[in-house]
Amino acid sequence: MTNPRYRGRFAPSPTGPLHFGSLVTALASFLEARSQGGQWLIRVEDLDPLREPPEATGQILSSLDAHGLLPDEPVRFQSRRYSAYQTAIARLMEQGDGYRCPCSRKELLANEGRHPNHCRSGRAVTGDRPFAIRFALTDQACHWQDLLLGPQHQIVRAELDDPVILRKEGFYAYQLAVVVDDIDQGISDVVRGSDLLEMTAQQQQIYRALGARPPRWLHIPVVLNEAGQKLSKQTHAPALDDNTPGQNLFRALVALGQNPPEALAKGPPETLLDWGQANWQRGAIHLTSR
Ligand code: GLU
Repeated sequence: MTNPRYRGRFAPSPTGPLHFGSLVTALASFLEARSQGGQWLIRVEDLDPLREPPEATGQILSSLDAHGLLPDEPVRFQSRRYSAYQTAIARLMEQGDGYRCPCSRKELLANEGRHPNHCRSGRAVTGDRPFAIRFALTDQACHWQDLLLGPQHQIVRAELDDPVILRKEGFYAYQLAVVVDDIDQGISDVVRGSDLLEMTAQQQQIYRALGARPPRWLHIPVVLNEAGQKLSKQTHAPALDDNTPGQNLFRALVALGQNPPEALAKGPPETLLDWGQANWQRGAIHLTSR
């Protein structure tokens, strides 16, 4: 049965090829969507050319393809969405939710996170100094419900936590773009790694400032290596071997606490995905690591 109201997505930043940890996240978001008859999209969050090897996007997309993780709509690229981000920033500035900030990290640190340049009051004198644009948060004790982790409580601190939405170098920032695109694509459910949990309360404020209702969130524990570090490019996580997609998916199902029958270990990706969809148990995801 299809459920057009459920729209999920996998939104990788192309800083390197897909590794096992990102496959686990992609698979969780795919199975959550499919097991509820929903749609599943892929969005490449290619906002930071300085951190993105040019070949990474192609590698990620062909890896997802090799694993049978096919989106229901054409892949979206954030690098082609600048005008939407610009429009959102103009709106936030007009509403008084955004401000120009020339402060350096050093200045902020020396001032306990307060802005010595009075940027928040709109009185910052930027002169020739390059400036970022920040979102002006509201002080808030935020309570929300994660579909896996349960009730969440996050403190949002105005000024001290105000996120950059346009970087001094001229690049749009993740905190803005992720919200603008999730709104624009009608995403109802965000499934992602729990390394992004801390961002959620701030993102809820950006949703509301842009006149939208936040989606549901489900944060899955990040996969750790033997040294207890998150698998990532920084911790030298190896690229997935696209020649063994069935085995990779089998391991990913196991990492998600699902219990695929051993006989599937050598099956083709389609069989693993069908089994995963039919037997998906969100509650079986291990909560030990965060
Ligand atoms: N692009 C982000 C990342 O790769 C994920 C964004 C999200 O799922 O909210 O870490």
